[in-house]
Order: sequence, then C-alpha cells, then structure tokens
Amino acid sequence: MAYDPNNIFARILRGEIPCRKVYEDDYALAFYDINPQAPIHILVIPKGAYVSFDDFSRYAPDAEIIGFFRAAGQVARAAGAAEPGYRLLANHGPDSHQEVPHFHVHIFAGRKLGPLLAG
Ligand code: 5GP
Repeated sequence: MAYDPNNIFARILRGEIPCRKVYEDDYALAFYDINPQAPIHILVIPKGAYVSFDDFSRYAPDAEIIGFFRAAGQVARAAGAAEPGYRLLANHGPDSHQEVPHFHVHIFAGRKLGPLLAG
C-alpha cells in the first residue's frame, strides 16, 4: 500500500490540523487521541512516512526505529503510566481495523484495561 501524504496524521505532522501535543522530538510526535478509549489515550507517530508497523519495521532506518520506541516509552513514563501499567497497541491492515494509514502506537492507561481483545 502506497503512503498517502494527505492522511490525517501526515497533516497533523505538517501542522495543517491541530492536535493536543504531549511530546515531540526528531523521530516522534505524541498527542492525545481525539476519541479516547481510556482515561489516558495517547498516540505516538513517527515523523517518517510509513503506512503501518509492517512498513515501519521493514523499511525504517535503525535510528528511526530506536528513536521512535524510545520516545514511546518516554511518553508512557511521563504520563505516569509505567507503574500502574499501560497497553501499547498498533493496528496493521484491514483485519485490525486500522483507520489512519500512518504508523502509530496507541498508549492506553488510567484504568484496568480488561482482556486483550474485544470480539
Ligand atoms: P487506528 O484504528 O488507525 O489504530 O487508530 C486511529 C486513531 O486515530 C483512532 O483512535 C482515532 O480516534 C484517532 N484519530 C483519528 N483522527 C484523529 C484526529 O484528527 N486527531 C486525533 N488526535 N486523533 C485522531
């Protein structure tokens, strides 16, 4: 699947659409999900153009992969979620119901998160 440069997260990265920013560095941007599914629901996205985890894990240079995952861990710790715990989730492709075709991880925290999969 080719990367769509007009997907909503690409537009957020370019500053064309606002977001409630949590964190930013050279490799990642983190912001609150517009439709939170937990008291803390943060999205972390790489600055590079990758459709999904499959694309990112295949093609991103090591520095981008390391930078991205270090940032995601930092965001979760800064949100106070490391101690009670949190869930990190990435959807890839139609079976997962991935909506936005720019790789992102969800960080869910702030309550007991229940079973791994619903339905
Ligand atoms: P996916 O299903 O692709 O893993 O998750 C996409 C997530 O992006 C959803 O949780 C959805 O609420 C969130 N989202 C979609 N559009 C926007 C937006 O414009 N701003 C923010 N902050 N989140 C969005």
